[in-house]
Amino acid sequence: MRNYFSGKTVLLTGGAGFIGSNITEKLVGFGCNVVCVDNFISGRKVNVREFANESGNPRIDNYTLIQADVSQPAGNYLPEGIKLDLILHFASPASPPRYQDNPVETYLVNSIATHYLLDFLKRTNPEGRFVFAGTSEAYGDPQVHPQTEEYWGNVNPNGKRSCYDESKRLGETICGVFYRDFGMDSRILRIFNTYGPKMDPTDGRVIPNLIMQALKNEPFTIYGDGSQTRSYCHVDDLVEFILRMSSKEGLNGETINIGNPGEFTIVQTAEMIHKLVSPDTEIRFEHQDMPTDDPTRRQPDITKAKKLLGYEPQVSFEEGLKRTIEYFKKEIK
Ligand code: UDP
Repeated sequence: MRNYFSGKTVLLTGGAGFIGSNITEKLVGFGCNVVCVDNFISGRKVNVREFANESGNPRIDNYTLIQADVSQPAGNYLPEGIKLDLILHFASPASPPRYQDNPVETYLVNSIATHYLLDFLKRTNPEGRFVFAGTSEAYGDPQVHPQTEEYWGNVNPNGKRSCYDESKRLGETICGVFYRDFGMDSRILRIFNTYGPKMDPTDGRVIPNLIMQALKNEPFTIYGDGSQTRSYCHVDDLVEFILRMSSKEGLNGETINIGNPGEFTIVQTAEMIHKLVSPDTEIRFEHQDMPTDDPTRRQPDITKAKKLLGYEPQVSFEEGLKRTIEYFKKEIK
């Protein structure tokens, strides 16, 4: 894998985000020239502080940080004449409260930005590779369980989550057009719930919310009765999947689920966090309304990832939570 990446020029959109910044650590270590673009809507300067200073100037030779919105033509913000070997399109808010606060930015970054980036690659290096961060939200509130790549999903086209779900689905369509009609090497990952260090403790998703509540000795906010499920993948495992998908030959046009199939209800998630943070206290729940269109069950079928990428998650939920709790403890000091 290192051989594939060494010396390559990689454009990473959303490089200051949770997943993007974890990918960056690996890519710079492999000797890539990493060009990170972020508009900091949900990305955070603190996530890239090892690679760039406060003003955005690089601390290492093989890293460039560009503050820009990728929902404009790539030629507007990229250096003239740049030749990209690989584009990893990971820009987009991903937390429901964050994308619902920024619905237009969200649907543009997943749709028109995907078009502009692929169009730029087609004109400047048609041999280049493109990897799209798709999502398990493409399955909506699934009627097939666990979800395989063949399932087309059950998505509300005009609801509170649609700015994210439907634009990610359109992003997949755009990748498919450039693959089928223009012969480009585009690849789609459907990413299931992910957690771990560099996640924004205030982003409103379930793991940061519950960990921060445990650390502050507040009751756990449980939406609905907490019987809905999610399957959580530690970011180290997710990055390994992503790097394999990006570097392996012969995966042109493929769509692959990545995640950890271990499935937990929200109440079980709270109980695990409680056991790890404050087992001697009484567990307290604050029930709130279930958000509209909140999927009731979610679990990836990763048979395809195991076969094509030769990998399956190594970090248990308990171990991953311990590492994430340590990170959040440092963040709130
Ligand atoms: N959730 C919850 N309490 C919280 C935050 C989220 O019960 O404080 C629930 C939410 O309703 C959903 C699940 O946890 O069923 C996962 O929500 P998250 O926002 O992490 O992302 P999603 O998987 O829905 O995109």
